[in-house]
Amino acid sequence: MKLTPLWTDLTPRPADLPLHDPPEQVDLAVIGSGYTGLHAARAVAMHGGSVAVLEREHIGYGASSRNGGMLTTGLKAPIRTIAKRYGLERARGFWQWALDSIDHVERVIRAEGIECGWTRPGHLCLAHKPAHFERFRSHQQYLHDAFGYDRPVLVGRGELKAEIGTDAYYGGIADDTSGGLDPARYVFGLARAAARRGVCLVENAGVTRIRRANGAYRLSTPRGEVRAREVLLAANGYTTPDIAPKARSGVMPVGSYIISTEPLPGALQEELSPKGRMFYDSKHYLNYFRLSPDGRMVFGGRNNLSTTLDLAESARRLHARMLEIYPQLAGVPLTHSWTGKLGVTYDLMPHVGRERGMWFAYGYGGHGVSIASYLGYQVGQMLAGAPNEAPFMDIPHPRFFFTRWDRFYLPFVAQYYRVLDAIG
Ligand SMILES: Cc1cc2nc3c(=O)[nH]c(=O)nc-3n(C[C@H](O)[C@H](O)[C@H](O)COP(=O)(O)OP(=O)(O)OC[C@H]3O[C@@H](n4cnc5c(N)ncnc54)[C@H](O)[C@@H]3O)c2cc1C
Repeated sequence: MKLTPLWTDLTPRPADLPLHDPPEQVDLAVIGSGYTGLHAARAVAMHGGSVAVLEREHIGYGASSRNGGMLTTGLKAPIRTIAKRYGLERARGFWQWALDSIDHVERVIRAEGIECGWTRPGHLCLAHKPAHFERFRSHQQYLHDAFGYDRPVLVGRGELKAEIGTDAYYGGIADDTSGGLDPARYVFGLARAAARRGVCLVENAGVTRIRRANGAYRLSTPRGEVRAREVLLAANGYTTPDIAPKARSGVMPVGSYIISTEPLPGALQEELSPKGRMFYDSKHYLNYFRLSPDGRMVFGGRNNLSTTLDLAESARRLHARMLEIYPQLAGVPLTHSWTGKLGVTYDLMPHVGRERGMWFAYGYGGHGVSIASYLGYQVGQMLAGAPNEAPFMDIPHPRFFFTRWDRFYLPFVAQYYRVLDAIG
């Protein structure tokens, strides 16, 4: 079993991606080359702005090449909480915006000819306990009454066989809107698209210092300095306090872990996932899983909030859980075990804001494939002075003031969620 992401093992960063030395001066310097940064960069370049994407590692290194590749409806924060917090009218706006984000990804993939295994088979959320299925029923009714949204379909326990080859769940709720892709092929395709529009991609260029002088920013990297009129910090779960302490106190890195099997025979794929859906369950420490475009079971989750679990140990735990759901996979070898860092905010909402004048956008939880893509695009539009809609700009942004002590308090938070899963 390899302890590297499946996706970049199958598709390494393309050797022919045009890469550059740091340019002396640009209109926009983007820190981080995931979906947020690349969509923003592409948007600004399409309006004629000069852009450099500065990446500490290689292009797409962060969560954007490591995730489950599942684009599911909604945001990380539950929609009822959002309505309570911001009012129904705004919640409707957020809900529609999140739906639009999936269409945006589809549009860009088509427009740029990105071959990333994009499909739209929908998702199925699975009830871990009988009471959770009752919650699904009430959620479906709520979406109908408050949002006029009628796409979710309840799947009773007796009908689950048509959706998933397991008896481990008490029913589900499906929505055909959701989609799936190969995250690494998507992020590398985006990088190519951005480069075609003139974006300057710079690797091994971790920004270590940002100063402001004469109305411009000066960004220090080990490969030289870049001057920029505007800066967008797009580091999400990889944000560090040295260059952006305020942003770092607004977003917490949380580890998520994935394993994958070798490609499965067609008949077994059909049995495990007859509709090729994106699956996740209703636990706090949820499991998410799907068939990859090449027919493997890709199975992820979080046993813990830690970003430093041993990958052999996390594989052992995920494998045990996968076999509880799919005993049919006993004896099928695992090929990869890997991890990446999500950016999670205190209120579970994405946020866009400014620190010392530079912009940041982060906090998508497990919805970043579509939300980071769309928010990055909208921030790019805004920076280019073009029409834009980034509804997270003016919501209050609570911060983790105790974030430096993550390693001390996270085990207690983790235990709290484990207890909720046991009793909830
Ligand atoms: C294991 C896992 C599974 C997930 N599954 C899903 C899923 O199925 N569906 C979904 O919607 N979302 C999922 N997510 C979340 C999703 O992947 C992220 O929300 C999304 O990729 C964030 O994109 P981003 O561009 O904001 O950040 P990232 O892709 O994380 O990119 C940030 C980049 O910033 C760089 N960086 C940091 N500091 C500096 C610096 N000082 N200078 C230069 N560069 C710097 C990092 O090296 C990194 O490459 C998952 C995440 C993980 C980790």
